[in-house]
Amino acid sequence: MQKVIKKKRFAPQPEFTERRNYRPPGVTETGLVFVGHEISSDRKVMNQFLHYDQLYTIRHGWNSPFFIGLLDGKIMGTRCPKCGDTWVPPRTHCWNLDCKLEYTEWIEMPLTAKVHTWTVAGWSGRSSLKKLPITLVYAVIGDSKVAIANELHGIDPWDVEFNMPLKIVFKSKEERIGAITDFHFEPADDWSPSPMNAEKERIKKLVEPVYEWVATLKQKK
Ligand SMILES: [Zn+2]
Repeated sequence: MQKVIKKKRFAPQPEFTERRNYRPPGVTETGLVFVGHEISSDRKVMNQFLHYDQLYTIRHGWNSPFFIGLLDGKIMGTRCPKCGDTWVPPRTHCWNLDCKLEYTEWIEMPLTAKVHTWTVAGWSGRSSLKKLPITLVYAVIGDSKVAIANELHGIDPWDVEFNMPLKIVFKSKEERIGAITDFHFEPADDWSPSPMNAEKERIKKLVEPVYEWVATLKQKK
């Protein structure tokens, strides 16, 4: 007779005791519903309107401490207990071959970072149009082995430099929702940009039309 090895396939269900709902008023989950139709005057063509408004649940699983950390105004990363490498965004297992996929442990990271690379966004989704041009950086928080992307505020796009020191600035506790947009980067307090040079002039020229175009958006309201 074959021996049956019983394996626990799923982790036990957590008990959720802390809950906040920041859905905008008027947003309801109605599922899949036909809500109307229109028919052409010759009654040969019909359009039907289907409302498909679903509520999605994102289970962060082992990465949850990172998102809970954001709510608390902290950057949580992970560290390998064997080799000491750290990561933000977090990794649940060490990537070094010698560590044989060792489970990592959670650590609070410093609220300081360095620019790894950066770009200037001249176009965006509707919610950010009036903020253009947006400076986006990949920044290394603390001694993380990987970089994380976010907005860089408080600096002209042409003044950004590789490796420049940054600080992490969180929204107020009331505004935070446990998403990456709960914080942004700003230049470190003791840092100031280098004098204008040819490369900076080139970038300034490139983003000028974006500033002009955004100004017209602001006028229209
Ligand atoms: Zn390791």
